[in-house]
Amino acid sequence: MDAKTAYQELVERGRERADLAALAGLAGWDLRTYIPKKGHAHRARVFATVSRVLHRKATDPRIGELLAAVEDSSLMEDPDVAANVRAWRRDYERATRVPESLAAEIAEAASRGESAWAEFKKKNDWEGFLPYLKRNIELKRAYAEAVGYEDEVYDALLEDYEEGLRTRDLVPLFEELKGPATRLVRRIAASAKKPRTDFLHRAYPKAEQRGFILEVLPELGYDMDAGRLDETAHPFAIRIHPGDVRITTRYFEDFFNAAFFGSVHEAGHAMYEQGLPEEHWGTPLGQSVSLGVHESQSRMWENLVGRSAGFWRRYFPRARARFEALADVDEEAFVFAVNEVRPSLIRVEADEVTYNLHILLRFELELALFRGELAPEDLPEAWNRKMEAYLGVVPKTYAEGVMQDVHWAGGAFGYFPTYTLGNVYAAQLFEAAEQALGSLEPHFAEGDFAPLLGWLREKVHRHGRRYPPAELIQRATGRPVSAGPLLRYLEGKFGALYGLT
Ligand code: ZN
Repeated sequence: MDAKTAYQELVERGRERADLAALAGLAGWDLRTYIPKKGHAHRARVFATVSRVLHRKATDPRIGELLAAVEDSSLMEDPDVAANVRAWRRDYERATRVPESLAAEIAEAASRGESAWAEFKKKNDWEGFLPYLKRNIELKRAYAEAVGYEDEVYDALLEDYEEGLRTRDLVPLFEELKGPATRLVRRIAASAKKPRTDFLHRAYPKAEQRGFILEVLPELGYDMDAGRLDETAHPFAIRIHPGDVRITTRYFEDFFNAAFFGSVHEAGHAMYEQGLPEEHWGTPLGQSVSLGVHESQSRMWENLVGRSAGFWRRYFPRARARFEALADVDEEAFVFAVNEVRPSLIRVEADEVTYNLHILLRFELELALFRGELAPEDLPEAWNRKMEAYLGVVPKTYAEGVMQDVHWAGGAFGYFPTYTLGNVYAAQLFEAAEQALGSLEPHFAEGDFAPLLGWLREKVHRHGRRYPPAELIQRATGRPVSAGPLLRYLEGKFGALYGLT
């Protein structure tokens, strides 16, 4: 087979899969926003059908033949070809190693697990939920054996979310964070300086919240001609194509933070997708690289930009003009309030400092489970012990403890660490951007976000999956991935806010 023809066919096949996935994405967006109640059952069928078709296409032996034809050719000297072929080969190998029957069992156990979780969490019934959890763990173990790994089972699970990430890299990264982060939490707790936050819980009319969000997002660089903002129960961003990346939010009329920071977070995800090179649509070079890198974009815009003093220098006067609730509040008090640090039981409500400790706990428990050092039965006790050690709070119920997240119920083990990786990458990228561009907050104060977005486009977005995530970060920042920048950022920002010495 002629290598050039083979490569062309791979591209065509990739585009066909991407177009189908785009349709499924659009159906998913509709499912989570506007679908009428009676449409749900059929929509579930639509997803099952599309995912079966996509799986068949992705594991077609023809792909193996086409890849072999290109891999043996001089076409591989073209770096674009080499990058696409490397990623296609990896995806193809992983997809074909999992027997169809196992894939079906995993999907079924995940969906049963999620329904069981919703039911048993309401009743605070850990014993009722446990069999579903055990089934997921057992199947994920079988999955890991099928896809293969070098050092340990857990690596095979990490690889699903973050290419190339290994337990042996993650353990020291979390160790680096653990001591300083727990100490910072304690120092903040001991500080006499506390923010006033009552005004965040006053009346914030939905229409004004939406108006404010739509005023801010385009200035950040979220292209509204290639996106839109809708309402949903569980906010998300979804890419149909770089020309159509939608975000959603949820409004609480008695709480400012949720919709605003949630929208900036989702817009961060969306700006990444909008920045992927359109000419590579349907090939790995046109795809986002990993969950961790994706989360680095959302967290950077949400926290390093959206919770910075420079940002509110520009937007606080506008917020105060819009919301009665802020009439007696000054800028400094507002910035302190939206950066409040308070150890809590629930991960999704956690602040920037305590968040990583919630993730650390989950990572350690997952690892112990898959290393066979912890039995699923013993999870609640281990959970509570770690909550006490890291955050100084202990849940009174399973629902606000070990059963709070849906991830394990759906068999998503190895997913949690990507949240902290996102924070680590975000701080490292931001530090490198400031080294290249100078201090960014004065730009934010002027509503000028183009230097930062331009830098991210250049260093991260335009590369798609050209490099595995750790290499992408190393190339963008000139340094290997490390927790140093995140710790410096947290110590600097919260040390100043809380007057720590
Ligand atoms: Zn996110």
